[in-house]
Amino acid sequence: MIEDKNQQRTDLSQLGEFGLIDHLTKRFGVNQPSTIKSIGDDAAVLDFGNKKTVVSTDLLIEGVHFDLSYMPLKHLGYKAVVVNLSDIYAMNATPTQITVSIAVSNRFPLEALEELFDGIELAAKSYNVDVVGGDTTSSQKGMILSITAIGVADDADLVYRSGAQENDLLVVTGDLGSAYMGLQVLEREKQVFQVNPNNQPDLDAYTYLIERQLKPEARGDIKDLLKKLDVKPTSMIDISDGLSSEIMHLCKQSKVGCNVFEEKIPLDPQLINVCEEFNIDSTTIAINGGEDYELLFTIKIEDFDKIKANPNLTVIGHVVNEHEGMHLITRANAKIPLKAKGWNALT
Ligand code: ADP
Ligand code: MG
Repeated sequence: MIEDKNQQRTDLSQLGEFGLIDHLTKRFGVNQPSTIKSIGDDAAVLDFGNKKTVVSTDLLIEGVHFDLSYMPLKHLGYKAVVVNLSDIYAMNATPTQITVSIAVSNRFPLEALEELFDGIELAAKSYNVDVVGGDTTSSQKGMILSITAIGVADDADLVYRSGAQENDLLVVTGDLGSAYMGLQVLEREKQVFQVNPNNQPDLDAYTYLIERQLKPEARGDIKDLLKKLDVKPTSMIDISDGLSSEIMHLCKQSKVGCNVFEEKIPLDPQLINVCEEFNIDSTTIAINGGEDYELLFTIKIEDFDKIKANPNLTVIGHVVNEHEGMHLITRANAKIPLKAKGWNALT
């Protein structure tokens, strides 16, 4: 019944370390003018002229940050790149290069790593970044993946977490909570599958949520959009751990408080339906669920007219004095303190 795809399994030991690196990395070319020397020497050489360089790194561990039973390797490669680029965009910078470091056990054949690198290559192409180096080594158990993203910006364009001021407006891009509910749907289907492997899941009602979980995109469009609208955010952060905890980071670093309005938080209709099905409050999910990779930023109130008609941007609240604290104003007009639950705390 189960189709034997007769997939090739080439043992990594057949290639040796340098053969493997060469095999995996020969696909990467150079597109960025700032890449002077890419893969092949002891270090990459980059030249950003008189611009500022931005660097961010992330480490992903199998079983902690990803589960290969529902995360195809190509998606993992794509997502690992995207989540790093999101941090560069959150500085209002433009990503230009990444490095890719992997440790794998002998459980993985060459073909699995090729799939992982297919995803990395796809993301690198779609966001126009060069893969300029990395490291490849073995692990006792499972897979470890670390990506470092490098970007560039004019000094005047950089936006930090610390610049929000009283009366600024709080703005988010896109919609929130969907990636978290995508994960809940996948977890449920995994459990159904474990009980009955013949059960083919019908995921039609969840396509958007699952895509948000398995193939997230970083908001590389926002820097240009804001430039076009002639708006410079006063502070910015990307939403990886959930709106609530990101707002708290931003407010703490800016030494301000905020009021966030429940009714303003942007939700996709599919999210609302699935929250009903799971009998969970959609606001809780939108506030505490993670991995949306949208941007949260503040703007001067004078800039409101420039952004108000844009479907990508939603004003969800405003900045107040630090002494007033950080609150959610519910639909019933109750004022409750924001809590920093990372999305892990929900499970
Ligand atoms: P060294 O021993 O000097 O650290 P390596 O033999 O580990 O060099 O790597 C050779 C080249 O291949 C370097 O340019 C390194 O950055 C690159 N490289 C190694 N592993 C990866 C990888 N997983 N992805 C991209 N580039 C890699
Ligand atoms: Mg090395």
